[in-house]
Amino acid sequence: MTGIDVLVVGGGISGLSSAWWLARAGFSVEVWEAGDRPGGKILSQRQDGYLTERAAAMVMNFRPEVVELVREAGLEPAKTKRSPAAAARRYLLHQGRLESLPMRLGAFMTSPLWSLRGKLRMLAEPFIPASGDENESVSQFITRRLGREVLEKAMEPFVAGTLAADPDRACAASTLPRLTALERRYGSITAGIVANRLLHRRQGCVTDTFSFQGGMNTLINNLARTHGVQLYTRHTVQELVREQTGWRVTAMTPAGERSLQVPRVVLATPAPAAASLLAGLDAELADLLRGIRYAPVTVVHLGLDRASVQHPLDGTGFLVPRQEGRHLTGNLWMSTLFPNRAPAGKVLLCAYLGGARSPEVRDWDDNHIVAETLRALRKYLGLKAEPEMVRIDRHPQALPLYHGAYQARMQAIGARLSKFSGLYLEANYQGGVSVRDRIARGRTLAKQIQAAERHAPGRLAPLALPALGPDG
Ligand SMILES: Cc1cc2nc3c(=O)[nH]c(=O)nc-3n(C[C@H](O)[C@H](O)[C@H](O)COP(=O)(O)OP(=O)(O)OC[C@H]3O[C@@H](n4cnc5c(N)ncnc54)[C@H](O)[C@@H]3O)c2cc1C
Repeated sequence: MTGIDVLVVGGGISGLSSAWWLARAGFSVEVWEAGDRPGGKILSQRQDGYLTERAAAMVMNFRPEVVELVREAGLEPAKTKRSPAAAARRYLLHQGRLESLPMRLGAFMTSPLWSLRGKLRMLAEPFIPASGDENESVSQFITRRLGREVLEKAMEPFVAGTLAADPDRACAASTLPRLTALERRYGSITAGIVANRLLHRRQGCVTDTFSFQGGMNTLINNLARTHGVQLYTRHTVQELVREQTGWRVTAMTPAGERSLQVPRVVLATPAPAAASLLAGLDAELADLLRGIRYAPVTVVHLGLDRASVQHPLDGTGFLVPRQEGRHLTGNLWMSTLFPNRAPAGKVLLCAYLGGARSPEVRDWDDNHIVAETLRALRKYLGLKAEPEMVRIDRHPQALPLYHGAYQARMQAIGARLSKFSGLYLEANYQGGVSVRDRIARGRTLAKQIQAAERHAPGRLAPLALPALGPDG
């Protein structure tokens, strides 16, 4: 063995945050990343004075683990909070116009988004019986509990716009774990929310939406420099062999083949890459992973003169229900959300196209993508001029789809994985795709590995992690 306690394969946010928590627990960690930089899908890029995000644009947090990591990693001074203007409003496309989504009960009752019948149906939620079907889809769950209008005008655009998923096929228990848990525990979502409030069962931290000065790269670069973690880029893992005392992992590197013997391996790659690495070890496990489908998403960043946009851009942005349009699923107003995203007097808009709703966008050429985006934004935001900056980021496999009998798939994966001591899977096809969930799951993984270590004790002593500032 080499003195390395854990090898993490994949340097996206899943791998990096797992490595951070593991190092904090006293493990010595190497991260092997196939690409030439850490971050995986996440990448902040500058173009013509604009700061764009290739994937995650922000952290929407309510988990104490995220608060702890940001503080302990010394990232607090670099945090940029969502502006009050952006926090005040979110819009939904409704009958071809942007309508503000109601944030309070009074505004909800007077909102034109829902009919009186739809509002009364929502208010009946506490009286709807619970269902024990763990394979219920998001559409079935929401329609049963809250009615068809909530599905069409709130949940479908949310699931399509933020998860690129199709609510008719997405597993409710995997996609909306908090809502389904409320039903299981209290028999109703409303009753669960009221009970949690009365019992002061808070999540442990205040809800907070933020990014960082310099964008999400700041988080990535900080985690990549964690004390106790050695990151190697351009290390494409090709083979994983089980040995008597652990694992032998082999990667292709610019200097040729490199092998390492380690007691524990964490595969923090997308599911298809994990499937390839595990195919020789357990064909059924590989098949279960290969069966996880991914949705393509195309991100279009537009930089414009403020004066050329008629809409006040006084909010986070807008989502698009499927009855209103197929290709554009959402639009974030990045220069309203965070400071320093666009030069003075300019705005930065970020449009999301495709997903499970219209995967064909993946095959469009750049001209087609820009034309479709501009056609939609001219109509809804009143663009009066051409953009001065255009950037297109394509993700052929953007996000894993928690579609079908996903709970059963994950249970089967867990059961097969448990045969292999010292082998762990940790990526966004399990436990949530958001940066928040990835950070929180990294901590759970570190605790799991610590617990296993207690049963087979080694040489580990907790490391004191010095807090690195955002820039080192
Ligand atoms: C367009 C878009 C917008 C999003 N917006 C948000 C948002 O606003 N907020 C939010 O919280 N989340 C958002 N997300 C979700 C979030 O960005 C992703 O879920 C997350 O970044 C995925 O991280 P990951 O580490 O699991 O996977 P990845 O980022 O895919 O990282 C996996 C890594 O494994 C490496 N790898 C693969 N195979 C090998 C191998 N054989 N050897 C070594 N390395 C290998 C890859 O090179 C890659 O770096 C968004 C996602 C997308 C696509």
